[in-house]
Amino acid sequence: MSILPLHVDDFEVRSPNVTYSDDFIEASYQYHTTEILKEGKKTVAVPKCVEYQFRTERKKPKLGLMLVGWGGNNGSTTTAGILANKMGMTWMTKNGEKKANYFGSLTQASTCRLGGHGPNCVDTYVPFSSLLPMVHPNDLVVGGWDISSMNLADAMARAKVLDYTLQQQLAPHMKHLVPLPSIYYPDFIAANQTDRADNIIPGQDKKAHLEHIRNDIREFKKKNGLDKVIVLWTGNTERFSSVQSGVNDTSDNLLAAIEANEAEVSPSTIFAVASILEGSIYINGSPQNTFVPGVIQLAEQHDVMIGGDDFKSGQTKMKSVMVDFLVSAGIKPTAIVSYNHLGNNDGKNLSAPQTFRSKEISKSNVVDDMVNSNSIMYKPREHPDHVVVIKYVPTVADSKRAMDEYTSEIFMGGTNTIVMHNTCEDSLLATPLILDLAILADMTSRIKYKRADMTEWSSFHPIMSILSYLIKAPLVPPGAPIVNALFKQRACIENIFRACVGLPADNHMLLEHKRG
Ligand code: NAD
Repeated sequence: MSILPLHVDDFEVRSPNVTYSDDFIEASYQYHTTEILKEGKKTVAVPKCVEYQFRTERKKPKLGLMLVGWGGNNGSTTTAGILANKMGMTWMTKNGEKKANYFGSLTQASTCRLGGHGPNCVDTYVPFSSLLPMVHPNDLVVGGWDISSMNLADAMARAKVLDYTLQQQLAPHMKHLVPLPSIYYPDFIAANQTDRADNIIPGQDKKAHLEHIRNDIREFKKKNGLDKVIVLWTGNTERFSSVQSGVNDTSDNLLAAIEANEAEVSPSTIFAVASILEGSIYINGSPQNTFVPGVIQLAEQHDVMIGGDDFKSGQTKMKSVMVDFLVSAGIKPTAIVSYNHLGNNDGKNLSAPQTFRSKEISKSNVVDDMVNSNSIMYKPREHPDHVVVIKYVPTVADSKRAMDEYTSEIFMGGTNTIVMHNTCEDSLLATPLILDLAILADMTSRIKYKRADMTEWSSFHPIMSILSYLIKAPLVPPGAPIVNALFKQRACIENIFRACVGLPADNHMLLEHKRG
């Protein structure tokens, strides 16, 4: 009979390399990598070890999460999900009683292997959330903006995501929640959104809009006694803005362009600039290029963290597992064809060519790193055919259908075709990602590191590539590789967090079990 693993809720590390004080966990860590040297025709691999120190703030902040697009399907489901969990709600469905949970959240519903216990080295697991002192989603204070004035109870009904009897319980707790008015420049989203835009900051003055949003962030922080606010875009997908020299190519030009009311400055870019100037982390859950070069430079200058672009919730998540599996098994994907149909407001907005184009771009490069990693099967710049189709079908509402066909070349010229059909409420996939993004972004901002060659503590780069696991088109610091493969992305977060408490990366070797 196999031995069942052990599960523990919490742990402390005992090691000469780790100290716990009231304020910090400090750990020394040996980072082992391999450096590649090219010596004429010869390639030499040199193992390297670099000493790092990590210092992690233990105090969890009182954290606010301001959603842009609060009244949308994701925004209302996030709010409802937190309230239902906080109040421990249960509700009846035709399949019996259901209880609020955080399934789908990496931080709240997944575990990590901590090590081996006893003479048999029994696998011992902890909740992911106990690796470091992370904020719990129940403690988030949620607010935000929407161009639709509908209160959150009605917005939840409009979204058609949650079971009706749950909505009935939640409605009294949500009907007093009303989104703040927002910035609406009709040109950036589909024309079919006009009829819900009844909650708009007046005027056309972009500088005034910027100041308005900055003031909203300050007021929300003050009113709720918060230590920190994270702003997250879960609004409609915008069209790409054109990157123009003199307009949005540098931070100075961008700030001047806002003053000058330049047409190419999008609402989402104004939100990002407002957040950065308020010292609030900004995360982009949609595909548009909010992070024009001027925004990135502004974030670097102010050392404020940003993350994006586009939640990786369903089809792309599957792609970043499937293609990783195929390529690393020596099977050559030659075509990936994806059809989606959905009937929610996101699908309606994406039925316009310019917003669909944003989604198409963010979905297009998601297998590049896996394909480029293999020169046995792929020539340089060779790629599988990759096509993405999205159609709006109102009947299915938030219950999105995704159909994918993976065609691969196998042994001796054979062909393998895998077809997948996924049906799921889109917002039930996206909401746990929104929570993880906020929790992990806050956690990342509380870590400082010092390499052997550094005299001062430093934060990680403002572009949080550590969030890539949750993101379709990860934004990374200049020169850093983009990783799309899902398990590498997960291992990155887990192993950095382990390093912060002085634990080695989980290498899965299990040598202790290879022979007694
Ligand atoms: P939704 O249309 O239901 O919600 C978007 C909300 O944004 C709407 O309430 C709309 O009124 C509001 N809005 C639009 N422009 C705004 C502005 N300038 N300021 C404030 N509010 C504004 O869409 P959703 O299903 O909640 O998805 C939100 C976003 O997340 C979309 O861009 C979508 O592409 C992206 N996304 C969703 C998923 C997912 O749900 N699984 C996955 C990846 C990305």
